[in-house]
This record gives sequence, C-alpha cells and structure tokens, in this order.
Amino acid sequence: MLGTMLYGPKDVRCEEVPEPKILHPTDAVIRLSASCICGSDLWPFRGLNDVTSPMAMGHEYCGVVEEVGSAVTTVKPGQFVVGSFCISDNTCPHCRRGFQSSCQQREFMTGAQAPRARVPLADGSLVATPQLPPDDLIPSLLATSDVLGTGWYAANAARVEAGSTVAVVGDGAVGLMGVLAAKQMGAARIIAMSRHKTRQDLALEFGATDIVSERGDSGIERIKALTDGIGADSVLECVGTQEAMTQAIRGARPGAMIGYVGVPHGVQLDGQSLFFSQTGMLGGPAPVRRFLPHLIDLVLERKIEPGKVFDLTLPLADVAEGYRAMDERRAIKTLLRV
Ligand SMILES: [Zn+2]
Repeated sequence: MLGTMLYGPKDVRCEEVPEPKILHPTDAVIRLSASCICGSDLWPFRGLNDVTSPMAMGHEYCGVVEEVGSAVTTVKPGQFVVGSFCISDNTCPHCRRGFQSSCQQREFMTGAQAPRARVPLADGSLVATPQLPPDDLIPSLLATSDVLGTGWYAANAARVEAGSTVAVVGDGAVGLMGVLAAKQMGAARIIAMSRHKTRQDLALEFGATDIVSERGDSGIERIKALTDGIGADSVLECVGTQEAMTQAIRGARPGAMIGYVGVPHGVQLDGQSLFFSQTGMLGGPAPVRRFLPHLIDLVLERKIEPGKVFDLTLPLADVAEGYRAMDERRAIKTLLRV
C-alpha cells in the first residue's frame, strides 16, 4: 500500500510501505476513512526535530476495524472507531485520573497517513460509534482524534467555565478548536489572536467575540484593553514559541489558568515573572481519550462541526503538497483522501 514517510527537512514522500499487521494480541488494524496532516508534523518537516531515519507519518485517524488481536474485547471488525494520537491502556492510575496521554504504557500513534494502520492497545485507545457514521461527518470525527481533542484540553486545563473571558493565543487549527471548545463550555467572551483574515473568519464562526491582530506588547495591551485592564480568566496557548507563551502569561489576570498545548520549542520561563504573575499552568500532550466519547457525541448529534477546520483536501498521493501548503500557511489543515 501507499504510505507517508518523512526522510528529512522538507522531504516527505508518498511511497510503497508494508501493509500493517497485528503484532501484539492487544492490536487492531483499521481501514482509515480519511487521514490528515497535523501542525505538529510540521516541526520535523521544518527540520526543528531531528529525523535520523525515515519516519512513518500520521497520528490522527478514524475508520473501520478490519482485524483485532486475540486479547481485544471492546471493538470488533466492522465497527467505526476513533482513537487518540496517544495510545493508552485506559486502565493504569494515570489513565483512571484522566491523563491518558501520560499512560504508563503510552505510545505515540504513527503511520496513519495511509489507507490502513495498526493501532496498539486497541481496547484502551479506540472508541466505537453505535453505527457507521454518514460520510459527511468523517472530517469532524477525524478532527476529534487530535486537533479538537487538543483544543478542548487547552480549554479544560485553562478551566474555562460559563461566563469566562478567554484569550486564545494561536490561530492554527488547534487554536481555532480552542475557540470552539471555549464556546461549548459557555465562555462569555472569547478573544482570538490572529492576523490572517481566513482564520479570523473561522474563529468568529466558531464563537470568537473579539479578534486581536497585534502581537507582542501591543497584543497584550489590546487584551488588557478588552478586559477592563484586568486580563483574561483563562488563556489557551496553542503555539509553543517563546512569544506565544509570554503573551499567554502576560494576557492572563492574577488567578487565571493557562492551558498550554503548543509543543514548546525554545521556551524559557523566568521563575520570578511566573511567581508574580500568580497564574496557574497546565499543559502537555492532550489526554484526548478522556474527551473522545463526549466529542464524538457532539459531532454525531451535529452540535459542533470541527471538520470546518480542513480547508484543503488532497489525495494521499499529493501528501507532500499538503505539507507545503500548511508550512507556507496557505492551508490551515489538510485532509487526505486515502
Ligand atoms: Zn494508562
């Protein structure tokens, strides 16, 4: 079959790869309904993470189970499933406390930019839908696997609640999903920081009430001006750069929580600034598995449409163009037909 391999900076290829097989009794093999490219795939694509040997790309997935290992009991062939990019057993102490992304048996999903994929720890990682979903819901169901689950976690970690004032730093797909999540959690005010018209429009559609296009000191001043000089109750940091993290901390009011889900690259925090900011921080890889059942229900009930975040659809064979379009910010997120 065809699959996506990253060889080095800017060198991603769709090429012949081995068919996935059941390797352990706890595995499942699924046929993907669609796949996609993640903003985090751009870190190695840009050469910011070392790639020492060709990497099988793709960690967002949904599709139909084809085969399960002998120990799998909760999903069976023919069922439609969605899983998280973090593979988890869903039974260890961290999983039971809702932090499946720190599972004692954690693995990171790979090889999902392909027509079929092996999912380890299938019982813990996969959530089945009651029936096969209609085709038009596939993009939104695929979005729950990572990008929505991550935006949702950012809002949850930032303790967004009814009536909150929320600032979202980052207008990538995760930031936009953070806006959607904050809206669902009842935020009264959602300030989206974005300089790009198409992303601003999508943020407004997902529930943003204000757009701040400034960055740095003037961006922080704008947040303060919009919040009577106080700062936001909750800040979602969805980038992972020093500038974004600084903006998140300085845009938060004392007592605020910051949910940070951008993978930090070169971020340094000063202890005293953090001390006097009196803000709380919770972040890390999102425990998407905790939220999946709820997010899948919201999609199936057509209460949310996170699939709108895909603004480019390409066949798998053109995956390299999908990476380039996202790298050059011509596309927010690329859906791959497999
Ligand atoms: Zn676990």
